[in-house]
This record gives sequence, C-alpha cells and structure tokens, in this order.
Amino acid sequence: MRDIDLENLLLKKDKKAIAKAITMAENGDEKVYEIIKNLYNKAGKAYVIGITGPPGVGKSTLTNEIAKFLLKDNYSVGILAVDPTSFFSGGAILGDRVRMSDIALNKNVYMRSMGTRGKLGGLAKTTRAAIHILDIVGMDYIIVETSGVGQSEIDIVKASDTNVMVLSPGMGDDIQAIKSGIMEIGDIFVVNKSDREGADKTAAEINFMLDLNDKSDWRPPVLEVSALYGKGCSTLLSKIKEHRYYLEKTGGLKERRLKNLRWEILEIVIDNFMKVLNEKISQENITELINAEYAGLANPYMIAEDIYKNLKEDFKW
Ligand code: GDP
Repeated sequence: MRDIDLENLLLKKDKKAIAKAITMAENGDEKVYEIIKNLYNKAGKAYVIGITGPPGVGKSTLTNEIAKFLLKDNYSVGILAVDPTSFFSGGAILGDRVRMSDIALNKNVYMRSMGTRGKLGGLAKTTRAAIHILDIVGMDYIIVETSGVGQSEIDIVKASDTNVMVLSPGMGDDIQAIKSGIMEIGDIFVVNKSDREGADKTAAEINFMLDLNDKSDWRPPVLEVSALYGKGCSTLLSKIKEHRYYLEKTGGLKERRLKNLRWEILEIVIDNFMKVLNEKISQENITELINAEYAGLANPYMIAEDIYKNLKEDFKW
C-alpha cells in the first residue's frame, strides 16, 4: 500500500517526514523502498560530498563550516553523519550534533546521525536510502560524513560524487597503514588542524604518496585547513566545486554514478538473494537433504555444489 501522506510530506521537505522515512530504512522497513521507488523521478539533482577520515580529525567541524558556506549561497544541505563503529545512533556522535546545532535549526538543513544499531552490514544500504530520500526532497547538496577508514567506510564512499579525505598532523604512520584504501578514494585531501605543528610534513607525505599513485587526470589537491578557526574552508569548497566541474566536463560524473549504481544494484540483489537463500538453505531443508541424499555424511563442498547446480537450473543461468 502506498503511503501517500508520507510521500506528499516528503515532497514538501517536511523534516519530520524525512526523519520518519530514514528511520524506516534504518529499521529495515521495506515500505520505504516503495516510497523511494514511487518518487525516484525527483531524484538525481543533489550533489553528494563524502567526508571521510579517522575519528577526531575534525570531520564534523569541517562539515559544519562547508554547510555554512553552502547555506550562504542559498543552497539546501542534507547532512548524514555515519558512524560504522557505533552500535547505536547517538552516543559519541551526539556530542558532534550538539556542536553543529547552530545550523541544525536552519530550514534549509536536515541533519541526521546514523549508526549500525547493532545490525552489522546494512549500513551502506541504509545510507544510500537516506541519500535518495534527501535527494528526492530536493536537497542541493548532501554531505555524508563517515568515521573511520575501513571497508565499510569505503562501501559508503561508493555513494558519493566527490570524496574528501580528512587527516590531521602527525598521522604519517596511520597514512602508511591505511594508504591502499584511502589513496584510491580521496578526490581531495585535507590536513585539518593545520594550526598545530606538523601539518606541512603530513601534507608533504600525502603529496608524495599521491605522486606514486597518480593515474588519473585529476590530481587530488592536498589542502591545509583549520576548521575550528575557519581557515581554508572556502578554499576547500572551491576545490569541491572545481572537482564537480571537472567531473561534469569530462563525463566522469556520469561514469562515477554508473559505477556507484552498479554497486548499489549489486548490493540490493545480494540482499534479496540472501533472503531467498536463507529460506532455501534452511536448517530443516539441509538436515533433510543430508539424511536423504548423503546418508548422514555431510560433505559441505559437495552439498554446496549440488545446491548451486540446482539453483542454476532453477534460474536458467
Ligand atoms: P570528527 O570526529 O572527525 O568529526 O572530529 P570533530 O569535528 O568532532 O573534532 C574533534 C575535536 O577536534 C574537537 O574537539 C574539535 O573542536 C577539534 N578540532 C576540529 N577542527 C580543529 C582544528 O582545525 N584545529 C584544532 N586545533 N582542533 C580542531
């Protein structure tokens, strides 16, 4: 059944409706996907900025500053603070929200924290649903702030158009440790807290590694910023816009969105398949199969192979 009321409220950019829809996604309520499907023709206009980096480097502070600039230019901004390490929304994140509250009440801002709520895995899908919702309601920019630099963050990053990787002075060793992941996903690098000692050195290290990895026409800039004192934030926004322009001009945006779309589709199909497989390969079915076909001797490889073969026949692959 269509939830026409919620759909209409969403189209009016009603903050409570946005909150409700995102909560539905977080709770795995399938109805929200019907809503997104129905309203999808409104999507595609928002520009998605990813802000990623280890906890404590100043992502929230930076996001706040960027959002202020965007608001000044009369853009609307949706902010999703995603914390894959938190088991519940709130907690550590709540402190950041309080700091950011000076813009939270602005009618052109919607701000939301998202955690895993104890369900590992589904965060990328939920985040994407939240991005679609904010896009559908007409946000010009969506900033997705992700804490950490592991695989789940990289999955989330696959939903954004421009990725800003944030580090802080003295992170040389950390950069070494995480470089394979971050060097590929950063379109712009920020050394925040440049009011502190060591920013130049960290920036030089990042530049060195970028030169080693340089493959594309877009050489990610490395900016020294001090979000807390508002230094370098307008330059960062200019670079984000420059990257957007570059992507639009070269066809890179279309290409990136197609790539992201493939990931998203893959994720949805895998998710649906998991449900089907969980039913097909239920404990009951497996026990029955083992007793009937394998005389109680359970060879997992053989059984899996047989199941896979049967599935292939079922689906006519
Ligand atoms: P996040 O965990 O990456 O979102 O980091 P936060 O934005 O919550 O910032 C963590 C701490 O660093 C806070 O106490 C901020 O006030 C502080 N901070 C943020 N930006 C700067 C900066 O440019 N310079 C300094 N010295 N501190 C900063």
